[in-house]
Amino acid sequence: MRPFVAAALLLLVAAPLAAQSSPPPATPAAADPRLAAIAAAVSADSLEATDTRLVGFGTRHTLSDTLSPTRGIGAARRWVKAQFERISAGCGGCLDVFYVSGTVGPGPRVPRPTEIVDVVAVQRGTADSGRYVLLDGHLDSRVGDVMDATDSAPGADDDGSGVSAVLEAARVLTRYRFAGSVVYSVCSGEEQGLYGGEILAAWVRRRGWRLDAMIENDMIGNDQGSDGITDDSTARVFSDGTPPTLTERERTMLRFTGGEVDGISRQLARYLKATAEQYVPGLHVWLIYRLDRFLRGGDHKPFADLGYPAVRFTEMHENYTRQHNDVRVVDGVQHGDLLSGVDFDYARKITAADAATLASLSWAPAPPREVRLGGAVQPAAVLSWQPPADAADVAGYRVYWRRTDAPTWDHWTDVGMAHRYVFTHRVVDNYFFGVASVNREGDPSVVVFPTPAAP
Ligand SMILES: [Zn+2]
Repeated sequence: MRPFVAAALLLLVAAPLAAQSSPPPATPAAADPRLAAIAAAVSADSLEATDTRLVGFGTRHTLSDTLSPTRGIGAARRWVKAQFERISAGCGGCLDVFYVSGTVGPGPRVPRPTEIVDVVAVQRGTADSGRYVLLDGHLDSRVGDVMDATDSAPGADDDGSGVSAVLEAARVLTRYRFAGSVVYSVCSGEEQGLYGGEILAAWVRRRGWRLDAMIENDMIGNDQGSDGITDDSTARVFSDGTPPTLTERERTMLRFTGGEVDGISRQLARYLKATAEQYVPGLHVWLIYRLDRFLRGGDHKPFADLGYPAVRFTEMHENYTRQHNDVRVVDGVQHGDLLSGVDFDYARKITAADAATLASLSWAPAPPREVRLGGAVQPAAVLSWQPPADAADVAGYRVYWRRTDAPTWDHWTDVGMAHRYVFTHRVVDNYFFGVASVNREGDPSVVVFPTPAAP
């Protein structure tokens, strides 16, 4: 036998042994080719064209001119609304486009009563239209002095990049039809105190929407950090560990069951990370276990405050000489939030993750209800659940488990149409468990974290 043949035979024998000694791999998730196509359709050129128009309004400060046809927040919001209407015209009127507004002030950062106007476009779902997912960016911009409503405030990254992502996601996703409804929103008043987000969150609650996801895109294009690092392949998603709306009793129970890092916003963050890393080549997502950056805020907060799943999706490395700064050169260093500080190919990856996530959630069935975990003092955990109210698209359920110190749902198995699953030889104390509903194409709902079953 020639030596290389012998070596090949040895490899054949050795490979299975090596595989056995390593931990079992996670079940590979079935890829939905439609989601890959959606992610691939997002265009850096389109994002740049939109952001260039936004910067062209000079300033989009919340207190800036509302009457000029070319400069200020009024011209900017009318232009955004016209873009949604143009996109809608291209899909047979598939978007309902309107303003949601409210008056705030006088108060901090808003010295006189001021109308805050959000632009909203709704792509109505075909099957379960009362279920919503929402993508937002904020239109308003600022300079160093947050009350300066006249100086040039290009806001190319903060948050022209996020608004561009919302319009681009709408352009791509309106080519498809979804079971659930998709909402595209562009809020104002963020820099003055999250006013537009508050107005929209309260409006959503008054309408009684089942809002399964709110994703805020705020600063998604800067890849040159003040920390000296250039990174165009990592993004951050910030999320609350648990909703602030938990009752005292529910919060007390977490001490006995776990779940301090498994609230609804955290599950959405995990979903966004998993979808991004499956469908967007070259993008990794860090889960940051915080509502937002340290002592800072964004428009997802008013939604999280009301108990909706809401996260902030943002660049990995911020540049503090660019954001919230006057446009000027200091010691040879350009300050201010200019288009030159935005890498549109980086913004493209984050927008592609947005679009794939919105599509996956909107094609997936609603998540299962009444998810319960039992199995104390037994060598097997028991998970049980009920189907969602609208179960027409449910092709099966997927149960998940992970070590309690693992951040992501690394292990799962599909269990068909069962409503109960026994994790044989897996002691309930040592793992976290969850369940999602899955459609025929394999798109999962968000994972639902269980509450304890009645003893
Ligand atoms: Zn911002």
